[in-house]
Amino acid sequence: MSSRSIHQGLTKYALLGLAGMGVVMHSAHAQAPMTSLNIYSARHYPTDEALYSDFTKSTGIKINRVDADDAGILNRLKAEGTASPADVILLVDAARLWRAEVDGLFLPIKSKTLEAAIPENLRAKRSDTGGIAWFGLSTRARVIVFDKLKFKKSDVDTYEKLADAQFKGKLCIRSGSHPYNLSLFGAMTEHLGPQATEAWLKGLVANMARNPTGGDTDQIKGVASGECGVAVTNSYYLARMMRSANPADKATIEKVGVVFPNQGTWGTHLNIAGGAVARHSKHTDNAVRFLEYLASASAQNHFANGNNEWPAAKGVSFDNAALKAMSGGNFKSEVLPISAVGMNQIKVQQMLDRVGFR
Ligand code: FE
Repeated sequence: MSSRSIHQGLTKYALLGLAGMGVVMHSAHAQAPMTSLNIYSARHYPTDEALYSDFTKSTGIKINRVDADDAGILNRLKAEGTASPADVILLVDAARLWRAEVDGLFLPIKSKTLEAAIPENLRAKRSDTGGIAWFGLSTRARVIVFDKLKFKKSDVDTYEKLADAQFKGKLCIRSGSHPYNLSLFGAMTEHLGPQATEAWLKGLVANMARNPTGGDTDQIKGVASGECGVAVTNSYYLARMMRSANPADKATIEKVGVVFPNQGTWGTHLNIAGGAVARHSKHTDNAVRFLEYLASASAQNHFANGNNEWPAAKGVSFDNAALKAMSGGNFKSEVLPISAVGMNQIKVQQMLDRVGFR
């Protein structure tokens, strides 16, 4: 049994038990240091194991982890209420982080270290007090892939062009309601305004090669198989295939071209993975300490090398040949206040319903 499935096997009750023990120990030994931290993580990457073990090695703080998808974590936190043992919440995507903050699941974070490390547009202010609700810890670019035999880069060098008539019956994209797309469309709403964004979404629906199905990797494979001419994917799925030793993945990558869209305008959209302190955490100092660790150069490097994400912290150098090859070393990324992107998701969902984007 992998450690991942062991973590998944940890029940709420087991964790409540651990938290309960912590409380008992605390009252019996008031000065005893807290030695464990409960993390609810939607990061579904086995390479993250090293992040957790390195933290434990350097601090002596044991990590109990619950893995679930973003929606599952939010539901669980709500169900647990004040009894929740969660200390740190790691979610993938601004759309989910925004939802969790608005639902009152986070404590404000006070950390000079995080404020110095993470650029202002990659952290979110709280909707109530204006303190900091969560910090982005890594980013992924939402890129366009295309069939190199049928199209060229300039055909799809902007997101807007995905709605062009030349892609009729050629576009593949995962469900519009997936957080990665909600955030991209939320960003488009900031750039184009709601009316033009809805017209654009209608154009995407008109161009679809098939009803949205599967994850981002399936869209890349759809381009390679010829079912799709263009597709949208997060960069880390692409980098993972570029680094794969599997001949089928190599063959797929041979057939697709990649574009970092909107280099001439507002830049390529970034999806964010981020972290927050849980509303009912009993170990807030260690929770902040863990988030600070995730923003450190070594952890940031791990996001880049282990999971093919770009570091969120300023001035971190990393060495990932696939990321460098894909982007040409450098690219212009969109700079929008990340909370605005998350906030637009309700508006976006209504547009998706109106234009029939499933
Ligand atoms: Fe993902």
